[in-house]
Amino acid sequence: TMVSNEAFFKLDATGKVWSPTNYYADEFGGQVKIRSAIIQSLNIPTVRVFETLFGRAYSPDPYWGKPTLEIARRMGIRTPITKDMGLSVALGTPDISPLEMATAYSVFANQGTLVRPYAIESIYNSREGTRLKHIPSGDTQALDPTIAFQMTSILTGVLRERQGTGYRHMEGFPYPVAGKTGTTNRYFDAWFVGYSNNIVTALWVGHDRRTSLGTKRAGGTVTLPSWLSFMEKAIPYHLEKYKGMSKEEFLDTEGKPKPGGPLDFEAPDEMHRVEVCAYSLLRPNSYCANTTKIWVKKGEEPQMFCRDCGVSYGSIPTVDASQRPQTPPNPLHYQPAVQRRRLEPISAPSEADLRRARNPQVQVPIRTKPGVAPAVPRPVEPRSVDSLPVPPGQ
Ligand SMILES: [Zn+2]
Repeated sequence: TMVSNEAFFKLDATGKVWSPTNYYADEFGGQVKIRSAIIQSLNIPTVRVFETLFGRAYSPDPYWGKPTLEIARRMGIRTPITKDMGLSVALGTPDISPLEMATAYSVFANQGTLVRPYAIESIYNSREGTRLKHIPSGDTQALDPTIAFQMTSILTGVLRERQGTGYRHMEGFPYPVAGKTGTTNRYFDAWFVGYSNNIVTALWVGHDRRTSLGTKRAGGTVTLPSWLSFMEKAIPYHLEKYKGMSKEEFLDTEGKPKPGGPLDFEAPDEMHRVEVCAYSLLRPNSYCANTTKIWVKKGEEPQMFCRDCGVSYGSIPTVDASQRPQTPPNPLHYQPAVQRRRLEPISAPSEADLRRARNPQVQVPIRTKPGVAPAVPRPVEPRSVDSLPVPPGQ
């Protein structure tokens, strides 16, 4: 799904102008995929989606934003989110604790199930044995498993795709992880909340008084390196200690997680991967040079063929990937017109031409028939033998 990345302005509740900008404030405009907007952490499309889906921010509607807030509540967010926060709620204005953040992200990691956090497992008494024991309150399905998995797929891109805000710190990190960077205005807070399939960690860096961490101290730069070094130890530790696994069960001989092993994010049964054009995310046509595989719910595969690559008048059938041309010939591209001069038919040399040709004193270009070397007469200068060049060796 595409969404606009064009800048816009709003009057907030107090009548002040509010306009969201992207992290790189001069980079906006055009249309972006929702997936890319999340991976690159673009603010403008995020606010636009929030507004489109959940109503106008400053409308008198008392139920403004209710669907969003309900999703947030279902995912374990308890912090009050009020209408006067306006559209900036979409970017994370409410001060949410790291525990609530970890709870919410655990829904993505648990195929949509909310597991409420608890601090005390049980309390023992030396005479009477167990006095108190935590009884799970029952897990609730907060999100459709397919939506949770699609979020995991997108949040993996934050770390593993080149445009992702966390990509440049990921070199050498072995485990499959997903997560999101977060930076508030003027660099007051830097966040990274993410998960493997067995542990969720929320990390916040900031001052207890609300002051800036310093220019360009964004979530990806400040928090992600610490988050990664913690997770590198915590992920195998958790598998060994709580799942009773030995390293050989989930790591290969080089210390990398086994593909298809217990650390892979598992797709729900009702999802599968389909090949689509990398630009349009639609079914590839014969000219789509770059394709990618995306996870979709079975039965919700894109039906339309790509109309961005090559000529796209009418329907274009798919072809086998091996038969696709390496460089798509695009007839819409500019091609310089080839200017060929026509050879004019040449008549036999005229009497004047012949006369000039016979006179060696006059240099005249002589028209000849094509393919015949022009016999250009040159004046012959008499030369003595002495003036001839001496051949070498004499
Ligand atoms: Zn295409």
